[in-house]
Amino acid sequence: MTQDAWLATHTYLEPLASLHAQVNGALDDILTTCNHVPAWANYEDDFDAGVPLLQSSRSAIDLEPAKTIVRLLLERLAATSLPDPPGEQIRSLCAELRCDPDAPQHAIAWLLYDAPFTFSYPGLLRYLSWTALSRHLHPLTEAFGNWRTEERWLRSYCPTCGSSPVMAQLAGKDAERHRLLSCGCCGTRWWYQRMDCPFCEKQNNHQLAALTVEGEGALRIDYCESCHGYLKTYNGEGNEAVLLADWTSIHLDVAAQTFGLKRLAPSLFAL
Ligand SMILES: [Zn+2]
Ligand SMILES: [Zn+2]
Repeated sequence: MTQDAWLATHTYLEPLASLHAQVNGALDDILTTCNHVPAWANYEDDFDAGVPLLQSSRSAIDLEPAKTIVRLLLERLAATSLPDPPGEQIRSLCAELRCDPDAPQHAIAWLLYDAPFTFSYPGLLRYLSWTALSRHLHPLTEAFGNWRTEERWLRSYCPTCGSSPVMAQLAGKDAERHRLLSCGCCGTRWWYQRMDCPFCEKQNNHQLAALTVEGEGALRIDYCESCHGYLKTYNGEGNEAVLLADWTSIHLDVAAQTFGLKRLAPSLFAL
């Protein structure tokens, strides 16, 4: 399924789709890609101890270019004609980053290590920064996916950036059937136990339940009856690019919240 086909049946997503296209168009002009491949043997002990790749000092990833890309993206978008409110909010964020030369560094530390930092529109900044970073880091996340053995991670957070999952996918057939969790920030997908809740894994008494949404055959909401955290879940394969993009299923977040469920993943769409 193409994004256009999805939008044709979900026309309320069009403003978001158009913003997303403008952000990616701006990135096409300024993006550099990270071609660094870590010495995996140096990182291996951290991986086994559960330290995500981008949070490990042993992976020696240079985040200097990432700071530049986030700053350039905001500059580029601030000079573009964008509809309000995001247009006006992007210009404010850009002005905040301009005022403080250390702001891009603080922004990256806030994104990756949860360092305290105050911006006026954190949801928007997180969305813009991660859209840029996920593309910048794509060769690295791909190399990481080829290196790591899924059975050695199986943790509730992203092996690349450490974020909580925003979506899940049920893939494979019969004995090969498995669940992957999907990171809404860097885009990594990783294996996880079929029936465990990634938000309260220490408890033994949780129960997973599923909500179906009318007209959405391939997507449903899996939630935990203990902590009320939910994962938008894609039951199938082949349409990952469209169905696991988080913003393309924002109506499921609305439905989940109507049922009193909590989005426990970082919200990229507090727009
Ligand atoms: Zn991630
Ligand atoms: Zn739970």
